[in-house]
Amino acid sequence: MRLPNDIAPTSYLLDEENAQLFISWSDGHESIHPYAALRRGCPCAWCAGEGGQKGSVDANTAFTPEQTRLYELQMVGRYGLTPTWGDGHHTGIYTYERLRATCACDDCRRARGETR
Ligand SMILES: [Zn+2]
Ligand SMILES: [Zn+2]
Repeated sequence: MRLPNDIAPTSYLLDEENAQLFISWSDGHESIHPYAALRRGCPCAWCAGEGGQKGSVDANTAFTPEQTRLYELQMVGRYGLTPTWGDGHHTGIYTYERLRATCACDDCRRARGETR
């Protein structure tokens, strides 16, 4: 899915209690991202691999509570966000497109055919 250029996050909220991130978008959408799913989907070369090399994170990786605690978020240019995790990991750039494509709200999950 290509995002129109004018869609960008307007604000975000770290929900420590439920371990999820909420992002409000300029088109009015509010996306939901459980910390653990975000961390597992880290797109950096170390986690996801690069150039045919396997990364160190896959569907079975067990994370420590620190590794899935979202500490802060930083904007990267005008196309993505970089989370800093409790263990100091902060090399993953999550593009806006990627974030919207992995939104865990009911509407998005239904649109991707993921609801039971
Ligand atoms: Zn990573
Ligand atoms: Zn959504």
